[in-house]
Amino acid sequence: MSLANGRPYLAIPGPSVMPDAVLRAMHSAAPNIYEGALPDMVDAMIPELRDVARTQGHVAMYIANGHGVWEAALANTVAPGETVLVPACGRFGFGWAEMAEGLGIKTQILDFGRSAPIDPEAVRAALAADKGQKIKAVLAVHVDTSSSARSDVAALRGVLDDLGHPALLMADCIASLGCDVFEMDAWGVDVTITGSQKGLMVPPGMGFVFFNDRAAEARRALERVSVYWDWTNRADPEMFYQYFCGTAATHHLLGLRAALDLIRAEGMEAIWARHAALARAIWAACEVWGSDGPLTLNIAGTAHRSHAVTALRLGAPHGARLRDWTARQAGVTLGIGLGMSEEGDPDGTGFFRFGHMGHVNAHMILGLLGVVEAGLGALDIPHGRGGVTEAARVLADAAGA
Ligand SMILES: *Cc1c(COP(=O)(O)O)cnc(C)c1O
Repeated sequence: MSLANGRPYLAIPGPSVMPDAVLRAMHSAAPNIYEGALPDMVDAMIPELRDVARTQGHVAMYIANGHGVWEAALANTVAPGETVLVPACGRFGFGWAEMAEGLGIKTQILDFGRSAPIDPEAVRAALAADKGQKIKAVLAVHVDTSSSARSDVAALRGVLDDLGHPALLMADCIASLGCDVFEMDAWGVDVTITGSQKGLMVPPGMGFVFFNDRAAEARRALERVSVYWDWTNRADPEMFYQYFCGTAATHHLLGLRAALDLIRAEGMEAIWARHAALARAIWAACEVWGSDGPLTLNIAGTAHRSHAVTALRLGAPHGARLRDWTARQAGVTLGIGLGMSEEGDPDGTGFFRFGHMGHVNAHMILGLLGVVEAGLGALDIPHGRGGVTEAARVLADAAGA
């Protein structure tokens, strides 16, 4: 027997759950790309995108996933042969560094392991040692989706300012934007990147680069930039087709319009508070389960845990067994342990992740946690009793009467 038939739930850290309103908006005949509703809609969307990233700066859109905007951010700011500093807290930090190396950029990597956030003091030491101020940019992943570590991006601006170091501060907010608190301008971030398929609740395929005037100046100082990746016309198009350097992402844009309506109706502060409460409920359940068994939250300190994704260790091969059970028996797909190979477990089968980004609410999270508790029971994996009860208590406290 299987209990999985019913609406499936993809509880992985991207792509995230798509709202019905987004799906309905995308179910449309091909719109006119020359004039009329679509170009007008996109012009009006730009200030709303800025509001999500909390910036007055520029926005460039791409038909690309997160890897694409990793490249876009670098292609507009750093020349081959120049150096970037990459403080890494998981797979995605290294991924951005690899993208830089592919462009001929030199990388200096600070590896904080897989269970800790960026240490701003280590970044300070690296920048202070850069006597010739050759480092062009600091590439910081706000939430590393593999480890679920959330780093203090504003602290990095403080370090750069203390030292008078001119490097650009670039933030990968692909997992965090629209989930975890992020304030591009107030935190002094020069370039912010994100994708459509996580907190923005739209299918994968659109990427966004937000940049300020300092970053725009860095672009102008470059001798050569790929016409396709150049953000200049995309951010300030004279004609509609320049937004995307070619045909626009018509249906993604229709979906994004619907998603921005949902975001505007709820408000950024309420969205952040919802994600925080749901994350606390997840942590509470996991702590109960871990009190009498092998389950551990990958990030120990609550201040450094993302509100959008949670990485957990159950020990090989139980992470993979649990994922198999929840999909087969309950219609819930959990995230794999990414970049979490260990001695004796090259595939990282001891780890799994919950995505809780975007269109998720209390009943979905309680359902997710209930399914995991059932799976731990069905598979005879030792765990403390009452995790779901504790999560319900946290949500009751958060919501009040
Ligand atoms: C998802 C993600 C990426 C990669 O995005 P793709 O769309 O898969 O290319 C990069 N960085 C972070 C932090 C992510 O969460």
